[in-house]
Amino acid sequence: MPAKKKAAAKKPVKKAIKKAPAKAASKSKKDAPEKKPAKSYQSLRGMKDILPGQGKYFMKTFDAARNVAEAYCYGYLETPVLEAAQLYVKTIGRGTDVVDKEMYTFEDRDGSKVALRPEFTAGIARSYISHGMLNQPQPVKVWSVGQLFRHDRPQAGRYRQFHQFNCEVIGTRDPVIDAELINMAYSFLKDLGIQSEVRINSIGSADDRQNYTIELVGYLRTKRAYLCDLCKKRINKNPLRVLDCKEPGCQEALEEAPQIIEWLSTASKDFFMKVLEYLDELHIPYVLTPTLVRGLDYYSDTVFELFVEGEEGSQSALGGGGRYDALLESIGAREPTPASGFAMGIERIMLTLQKMDKKELLDGQVLELSGLPERQFYFAQLGEQARRKALSLIEELRQSGIMVGSSLSKGSLKTQLETANKMGATHSIIIGQKEVQDGTVIIRDMDSGIQEIIDQKKIEAHLRKIMK
Ligand code: AMP
Repeated sequence: MPAKKKAAAKKPVKKAIKKAPAKAASKSKKDAPEKKPAKSYQSLRGMKDILPGQGKYFMKTFDAARNVAEAYCYGYLETPVLEAAQLYVKTIGRGTDVVDKEMYTFEDRDGSKVALRPEFTAGIARSYISHGMLNQPQPVKVWSVGQLFRHDRPQAGRYRQFHQFNCEVIGTRDPVIDAELINMAYSFLKDLGIQSEVRINSIGSADDRQNYTIELVGYLRTKRAYLCDLCKKRINKNPLRVLDCKEPGCQEALEEAPQIIEWLSTASKDFFMKVLEYLDELHIPYVLTPTLVRGLDYYSDTVFELFVEGEEGSQSALGGGGRYDALLESIGAREPTPASGFAMGIERIMLTLQKMDKKELLDGQVLELSGLPERQFYFAQLGEQARRKALSLIEELRQSGIMVGSSLSKGSLKTQLETANKMGATHSIIIGQKEVQDGTVIIRDMDSGIQEIIDQKKIEAHLRKIMK
């Protein structure tokens, strides 16, 4: 009791103290020289903040990725963002957009040339070799989520820093693995509520491609006048890339181009047929796409991309992948180490999810910035003692596996209950000074407004009953 009286007597003093510095400040402000505001900074071009309102789409995507990867027994692997630049030049290849134009390459302090990873596969292959994973049971299946960097022209769905969900299977050449990977990518999108379309092709072995390329270059030379400037250069540098150019003139010029599928060896053809048979078995719809070649040098045989079903155009793949049987040997594997994998673009998937939620978009910026999480229960408090008790009761609930919403910095019950409604809470747990003393809390049904008082020791059991 005396403590209470003391606190009450102190109130006016507190008020006085609060007022004093404000006056002093306004006086000194007059005399002080005007202070320039500090320089403010924007994020770099093509680099996006994932704001709390978008964070839930990011986490949803991450959780779906983890679920599918763990279900198929893939182990999580995290490789460094920075690798030797040469690793990517060797694997992705000179003449590709990624290496020639988009890679962030710079000299490290010791003079060595390093690069921010533009994709996952090369780093994972490097990791497989340097950790002797060849000695583990084969194949080695790994998944990753992380940032990639490409100095591309930014636009909706294309950034200079972005994330991918990536899966790789290293150490086997089996069509069933390609089908498993395609199924995982397809199911991952389906789990997120995205119906996708798989476009698929085979680009055969290096020999098949060499023979085909001679034929293709001959054809492209006859159509040179119709090609865009970039594709004119590509005829000699990287003719396969002409196949997936989006320029209308190039598309038209390609209508009668020879198709790579006709140049496949029997082994590659049989392999591809098997992949398609497995996809049929899985009831995965696919579209055979002869112009699909993918942009990187290391691919062989199966290549595929996934698009939102019904969306025209080939600019906006949600992800893609393929087999890369020769890559590991090209960076030091002592024996043939065939492999296959895919990468899904997380930002593009988030954009698709946001569109599905009919949120207003402006190039990926959601107007809803606060990102309030959804909670069935909300913990409201009134007064300092109640706030202290609420802190420990919320933590006890968290430890028992019940997450409740709260806004402990807010004093007004009205504001707190409004927040509870925004979080979609069905019930609020309310504690004030009286409840602290009684060892109770009030449980309020947010729809009916009906309240009941329960013992603090019984909160968990009570909430569990409501959850049923
Ligand atoms: P890729 O590694 O080029 O096959 O890309 C796989 C997926 O990553 C694409 O289908 C996109 O969804 C995503 N992606 C690639 N580049 C970017 C980028 N610059 N910005 C955002 N997402 C990207």
